[in-house]
Amino acid sequence: MTKVGNLPFSDSRCGARWSGLATCHCAACHESFTSVSGFDAHRTGEACKDPAAIGMARADRTDQAWTFLATDADRERLGRLRSKSQDAV
Ligand SMILES: [Zn+2]
Ligand SMILES: [Zn+2]
Repeated sequence: MTKVGNLPFSDSRCGARWSGLATCHCAACHESFTSVSGFDAHRTGEACKDPAAIGMARADRTDQAWTFLATDADRERLGRLRSKSQDAV
């Protein structure tokens, strides 16, 4: 398990560290996002939204960057695909 202190990117102002070139760290609220789309979603005009308030959750990775979880519909679709491929075997 990677330690947070070993992650390659950091913000000297808040001390946050993260991994992944796609990760976006907000210079205003100092939250990290797994992708630019997540970052964009929390920025409305000049203000930052609480990521949790717009349906995001912390990713299951060392830097715990915010990400959009799959919706119920996505999960259902994935479940169907998965059972279909198992039938084929
Ligand atoms: Zn922000
Ligand atoms: Zn920061």
